[in-house]
Amino acid sequence: MTRMIQCVSPVDGRVYAERPALGRDEAMAAVARAKAAQPAWAARPLDERIALVKAGVAALNGMKDRVVEELAWQMGRPTRYGGEFGGVNERTEYMAKIAAEALAPMIAEESDRFERRIERQPVGVVFVVAPWNYPYLTAVNTIVPALIAGNAVVLKHASQTLLAGERLAEAFHAGGVPADVFQNVVLDHATTEALIAARSFGFVNFTGSVAGGQAIERAAAGTFTATGLELGGKDPGYVMEDADLDWAVDVLMDGAMYNAGQCCCGIERIYVHQSLFDDFVGKAVAWVNALKLGNPFEPETSLGPMANVRFARTVREQVAEAVAAGAKPLIERQNFPADDGGAYLMPQILVNVDHSMRVMSEESFGPVVGIMPVKGDDEALRLMNDSPYGLTASLWTQDPDRAWSVARRIETGTVFMNRADYLDPAICWTGCKDTGRGGSLSALGFHAVTRPRSYHFRKVKA
Ligand code: NAP
Repeated sequence: MTRMIQCVSPVDGRVYAERPALGRDEAMAAVARAKAAQPAWAARPLDERIALVKAGVAALNGMKDRVVEELAWQMGRPTRYGGEFGGVNERTEYMAKIAAEALAPMIAEESDRFERRIERQPVGVVFVVAPWNYPYLTAVNTIVPALIAGNAVVLKHASQTLLAGERLAEAFHAGGVPADVFQNVVLDHATTEALIAARSFGFVNFTGSVAGGQAIERAAAGTFTATGLELGGKDPGYVMEDADLDWAVDVLMDGAMYNAGQCCCGIERIYVHQSLFDDFVGKAVAWVNALKLGNPFEPETSLGPMANVRFARTVREQVAEAVAAGAKPLIERQNFPADDGGAYLMPQILVNVDHSMRVMSEESFGPVVGIMPVKGDDEALRLMNDSPYGLTASLWTQDPDRAWSVARRIETGTVFMNRADYLDPAICWTGCKDTGRGGSLSALGFHAVTRPRSYHFRKVKA
């Protein structure tokens, strides 16, 4: 029986979109078409592939109004934020700009006697399994370099953002990428895993939860398929005593609350030097109280519903457990009348928290943050590293030397100083511990979707 994949809108609980999942044979046929189409795509000149990929992204920009409206329906993001086009365009432009250099051969010798070099080959078919929280940004991180490098791409998007996959396919096809070179497929988990286990792909990029990443790794076991696993986070901010307080509050609270806290590198815990603690907390509370929770289509709404009632439930449970264990909630319910006990969830700041509470140790992925005072760098480091995750950490100080010394001891993929929650396309996006492995963006992002091939040609006998 055909299984329907549904997107239930958090705006009002309606089934906003549904599509039939491909059966196993149909899915295998899609992979076969991708494999057949890839060599001709790879044979096109790099400049041509870049031009077609950029034309695809331009076509996506042309759908902006539709995309923004669909994002609000699918995952509740307020329309005032205008989609993800800034980041999508920035990353595409940057990856296109560095492609020739990143993919260039490494020449060891080119002489009358020898030609010795390493070239980068496309891996063949790249499989992208994307999450709903930034459905365009997370997907283009791999799709753009994969296509530019000469791979075919099969995209399986999240059920919550079913239509994002369709829009991406529509856009790339409109831009001139052949239909079989970029395919969007609707799959259930079992078929997704079966395709991976059948060694269908040269590289699988999975962005999502730790449990999902583990399932993908298990599916790939024994196939030697390369995987990039970009998983969850519990990212800390550390505000040192010399920080610019207003700036730190503004960026860290935005990092905690933007997208209703549903950012992989959102700020989920903040450690503040004890000398600034009360001031920081007071300003953070004022910052959060200025948010407006409500329908994402209303222009004044700055905080929409969470993408799914079940995500809000997790956050509500974490907050309730923490409060029962002695945490103090500083945001009052009356300031957020739109909280309906379901997907519309008021933001929260908790103090009197510690790491025995799930809200300080497990990913919340919602508009809640715990704030703790610290005496100095050693205590902050111990707390920041006391986490199963390792995505980013955000340091606030006016002393770069001190930031370097702390940063080198933090167990995360990225360390920021005086900024947070931003993916710089020139810098590898990566994580450690339960955040997974691999790297996207930057020249290293091209390495993930290509494999080295060595050539050792001898031209003379002696
Ligand atoms: P998720 O539930 O793991 O889903 C991610 C994607 O994987 C979806 O397309 C999902 O399909 C699919 N999937 C999940 N489990 C699967 C399985 N066992 N077999 C096959 N496919 C499977 O994650 P999410 O809730 O969408 O995203 C939120 C999580 O992603 C958070 O933990 C967040 O931190 C993380 N994230 C990390 C990064 C990063 O760069 N490190 C970036 C963004 C998000 P369905 O939707 O159909 O279930």
